[in-house]
Amino acid sequence: MHLSVRYDPKEKKFPITNLAHIELKMRHFLTNFAVALTKIKINIKDGTIKKSDRVIGIDLGTTNSLVAIVDPVTREAYCLGEPEDKIVPSVIHIGDDHSVTIGKKAAAYLTVEPEHTVYSVKRLLGRSYTDIAGHAASYGYALVEDQTKAMVNIDIRGRMYNPIELSSYILKALREKAQTLIGEPVSKAVITVPAYFNDSQRQATRDAGKLAGLDVMRIINEPTAASLAYGIGLLKHESKTIAVYDLGGGTFDITILSIQDGVFEVLSTNGDTYTGGDDFDRAIVEYWCLQMQLDLKEAEADQQLYQTLRLEAEKAKKYLSSNESYSRQIKVKDSYLELSLEKDTFESLIKPVVEKTLACCALALQDAGLEVPAIDEVVMVGGSTRTPYVVEKVSGFFHGTHINNSINPDEVVAIGAAIEADILAGNRKDMLLIDVTPLSLGIETVGGMMDTIIPRNTKVPFQAGRQYTTSVDGQSKLKIAVYQGERELVDDNRKLGEFILGNIPAMPAGLPKIDIHFILNADGILKIEATELRSGVRQDIEIKPQYGLTDAQVEDMLLSAMQNAETDMQKRMLAEAKAEAGQVIYYCRKLTGSHSDLLTEHELASIRDMIELLELACNGDDRETINKQIDRLNDMTRPFAEKLMDDAIGKALTGKKLDAL
Ligand code: ADP
Ligand code: MG
Repeated sequence: MHLSVRYDPKEKKFPITNLAHIELKMRHFLTNFAVALTKIKINIKDGTIKKSDRVIGIDLGTTNSLVAIVDPVTREAYCLGEPEDKIVPSVIHIGDDHSVTIGKKAAAYLTVEPEHTVYSVKRLLGRSYTDIAGHAASYGYALVEDQTKAMVNIDIRGRMYNPIELSSYILKALREKAQTLIGEPVSKAVITVPAYFNDSQRQATRDAGKLAGLDVMRIINEPTAASLAYGIGLLKHESKTIAVYDLGGGTFDITILSIQDGVFEVLSTNGDTYTGGDDFDRAIVEYWCLQMQLDLKEAEADQQLYQTLRLEAEKAKKYLSSNESYSRQIKVKDSYLELSLEKDTFESLIKPVVEKTLACCALALQDAGLEVPAIDEVVMVGGSTRTPYVVEKVSGFFHGTHINNSINPDEVVAIGAAIEADILAGNRKDMLLIDVTPLSLGIETVGGMMDTIIPRNTKVPFQAGRQYTTSVDGQSKLKIAVYQGERELVDDNRKLGEFILGNIPAMPAGLPKIDIHFILNADGILKIEATELRSGVRQDIEIKPQYGLTDAQVEDMLLSAMQNAETDMQKRMLAEAKAEAGQVIYYCRKLTGSHSDLLTEHELASIRDMIELLELACNGDDRETINKQIDRLNDMTRPFAEKLMDDAIGKALTGKKLDAL
């Protein structure tokens, strides 16, 4: 193994001047063999989950939420409720006794009690204040401004509410609605989330479901649900690439999905969390103000006038989805206003917003590495795609590719969730079911860290490998400890087992190449193979990770991973600082020992003292102090490192190998 660094003949020096770092860099070079995860073809299993009670599908939307179910007799999926109350506005009003009102009734408070009425809570799920700070001013209620990374809180009437709790009120209302309408208790659900939701947002959604008394069987992506509603992805041997265009009230998402044998893979997502039908309404209000020679700023300041105009604008917009022109006289305070809007004018008003969404579509295609002809079908989602102009422009963008918009665009996600729920309930034996690992699988590395080899939510069967090396010279045995969980330190995860890879021929630290391969089969059985590639020494074991862990335990582990993310990071940084200190000390001792001739007695004594101080720091838990001592030791040994480098270069230039250092 040769160290490849640039040598500057004029300076006769390598650009690296730091003793420990030379070695660390070399080590890094040696250990950096991480093999990218390789996806292998998924084998489809059919549903074997026992028949259970009814499972509902929920679309927990930013603007509106819906609940749907599959009729046990007709096998048809439909949204629950009378036509006028299928859609539940995602609005929560908190009364003076902290009583909770949801939906339409709550939405009526938006204009009169904005500070007690929460809308768009989905944007806050799993997010901290700093995540959303840029848009904080646009919320009518009080977001608590703190500097922590914890989920943002909302202060309503002197009580703190968090987004999980608020979302759970919506879910609870949907659950109760379902129970009333089907006349049976409901405890299981599939809930949809945007494809771009990260782990903490998904976990927060799951927790909200739990708080609402629901056993969340699965969280699925909204575009996946919409596709299922159209029957896309339900057939074996089906292979397609589709675009899901979702324009809701306040958000826009475009997702490119690849579907193969019932497996949905998100190729790319793009969008804007602050673009949607609300922008159409605003454009109309601005136009009317201009027409009536009303100053927009003044109109905005007059909440009653502005909100009336806004509601009227939404009515006009919806009316124009199936009519050519709108006109109405309204009364605000004591004056009458004549409001009218032609379809053509409306379309020119919303053109910039629609063009913005098409630009996102172009970016999504680019990210997926695809061109328009590669898209087999387009699925339209979200209430705003009821506007014919939107469909027209999207169709134009996708060169007339088949557009699926026959199902109500505001119901399509909930309907898809109900279909997935029905599959999970085991009601469709003909249907495909993909299993995933509920928790990440990995091994322990230096410092007690968890190194994940198979991440959670990976579809099985799956296999992945990584390469490692030793951290101590002449190590002939290596303990491989296997863990399951999401926490950074193995101590906080669950140990599945350990085994020893022995008979490794003695080599300097960093030289052995140990390949560790995880093979997870469709039943959740994990087989591990460890091979020392230089000598060919190998060992393998089989572990059954799923057994012994109940669903509740899995949930608890995930919950605590979320709650402990911050402390884990601190612990990880401390463990890393200690590990680095260990390395620095090890190489300082080794090299000052083997090259003591390059140092004076005094220099040697100072380095030894400095090592002692670093060791002392490592006994404590103060990361800052450890890092400071590492820096001091590095600074002190820098001249020595330079000498050593020069020496090594000299030898290298006279034909000796550099790694003899
Ligand atoms: P979200 O997914 O964000 O919760 P929805 O998919 O329910 O939102 O979409 C809500 C948006 O759809 C609102 O802006 C609403 O005004 C708009 N919308 C609903 N019906 C129509 C219609 N007939 N024509 C145009 N826009 C509509
Ligand atoms: Mg939606």
